[in-house]
Amino acid sequence: MSLIDKIAAAGVVGAGGAGFPSHVKYNCEAEYLIINGAECEPLLRSDKFLMSHFPAEIVEGVKMVAESIGVDKTVFALKRKYENEYACLKRVVEDKGYNIEFFLMDSFYPAGDEHTMVLDITGRVVPEMGIPLEVGCVVTNIGTIYNSYRADQDKPVIDKYVSVLAEVNEPRIVKVPIGTPVRECINAAGGSTLNEFAVILGGPMMGDNLVEDEDIDNAVITKTDGSIIILPKDQFVIERNQQSMEHIKNKAKAACIQCTLCTEYCPRYLNGHGLEPHRIMRALAYEEVDSAEIFESAQLCCLCGICELYACPMALSPRLVNEYYIEKIDEKYESSKTEYEPHPMREYRKIPTDRQIARLDLSKYNHQELYNSVELEVNEVIIPLSQHIGAPAELAVSEGQKIKRGDLIGRAKENALSVNIHASISGTVKKADNTKVIIRSAEVVL
Ligand code: SF4
Ligand code: SF4
Repeated sequence: MSLIDKIAAAGVVGAGGAGFPSHVKYNCEAEYLIINGAECEPLLRSDKFLMSHFPAEIVEGVKMVAESIGVDKTVFALKRKYENEYACLKRVVEDKGYNIEFFLMDSFYPAGDEHTMVLDITGRVVPEMGIPLEVGCVVTNIGTIYNSYRADQDKPVIDKYVSVLAEVNEPRIVKVPIGTPVRECINAAGGSTLNEFAVILGGPMMGDNLVEDEDIDNAVITKTDGSIIILPKDQFVIERNQQSMEHIKNKAKAACIQCTLCTEYCPRYLNGHGLEPHRIMRALAYEEVDSAEIFESAQLCCLCGICELYACPMALSPRLVNEYYIEKIDEKYESSKTEYEPHPMREYRKIPTDRQIARLDLSKYNHQELYNSVELEVNEVIIPLSQHIGAPAELAVSEGQKIKRGDLIGRAKENALSVNIHASISGTVKKADNTKVIIRSAEVVL
């Protein structure tokens, strides 16, 4: 079986983003393979953990994927300050004599944005509405490579290393079976220090905010979740994400001074794209909801959050406006732009991570001391059949069926962008439908 077939069989998806199926992403020809080890969202630690604990597996995975794609250059992109992780990976690369380069970056946000990384490493601008492959690059993240290595050993994606941070008694990395309830992860980190709290699944800039207890109760770890951040419900980031569109509109009308700072700091604008968030705010203020500004801006935006969580002096939210309209627009913007010129001030407008963390009022959680990592055993998992971009997997088990950890429970939909899903614990299928499979451990005696 080829590596691509093994990756497909194991159900590997992009571990740090929206979950694009890796067997499709890697099934191409490209000049560069770039391994994104920036982990650029503030506070996150899971990729660092993987790099320092599994450098041999990661380097071997990189070599396999690079050979499969047939690239000319393979580049690890890490932050310069990740000295330990760099040393761990470099030692393996040198011992093996592999032709893998290192690109060491300053610590800024969004260093891990694919477009930003491709431009920094190759000098090439990924076109508007485009992907890195259009300029000869495949960008993949550390967790995805680690899972690809394991796929080559015929091991499916069934566990996840998750950072559980901020308002918990014992911040740590927790290894959990996929489908583990978020509440159990928080308990594994000693529980929250707060009676009432909100959860960010992912990073504070782009992660999903869970504020209602019911939403936290229903949340489970999927193949793309690497971090749980516990914060007070009135914390700056949580409150900013709770605004209604009506409130955002009214604020845009009343307070947008058209200073253009949101545009001046926008990484896509700085890369040379035609995205100018101050224009979407102007269109919104004048109720021009069918305007070209809104149609284009929403689709060119990567939702990095810099405009609203860093740049805007009036606490306005161009990112949330873009996000709102992305869901409403069903026609794809066809960009006709062919020439791209990065902004001459681009280098000087990269936002230092520590300054970004201070702006988010998260400095007290920066560099939290981590307790020892733990491996969590759970009695029940709820495994969604859609944890990826594309069609959900098709149910491959029935209620009452006994299954073993690693068994196929959801089969990738044929002739569609889809991935396999596997059982993350052994036990009995308690419930199964077209959206999820609930497995109860064989160990549980009722
Ligand atoms: S930074 Fe804020 S005030 Fe300035 S143009 Fe953008 S949205 Fe308006
Ligand atoms: S979220 Fe704001 S800063 Fe980020 S790409 Fe979109 S418009 Fe630009």
